[in-house]
Amino acid sequence: MKRLFEKIMNWIRPKKNLSANSSAMTVQLLQTLAMTKEEEYSCDDVHNLIDEYVEMKRRGEDVEKLMPLVKYHLDMCRGCFDEYEALLAALEFEETI
Ligand SMILES: [Zn+2]
Repeated sequence: MKRLFEKIMNWIRPKKNLSANSSAMTVQLLQTLAMTKEEEYSCDDVHNLIDEYVEMKRRGEDVEKLMPLVKYHLDMCRGCFDEYEALLAALEFEETI
């Protein structure tokens, strides 16, 4: 992502018709864009959302679409995935008693 950002900057800079002001605005816009794109959940974020995620999953909702960043993190992080599975199992167990 950072490399793409630099590429865009290099593409913008040589354009002489851009005023200093508008290119500063473009930089700001691109930085915001880059930050949004790079947004990833930390283990703490996932920990705070995992209950909701599991509830949604159990209701048969499309969690991958509704909480894609949680799903993405679970795919990448073994620790959080274990927590997710444990919670899911605990809820299922609760239902049988
Ligand atoms: Zn994690």
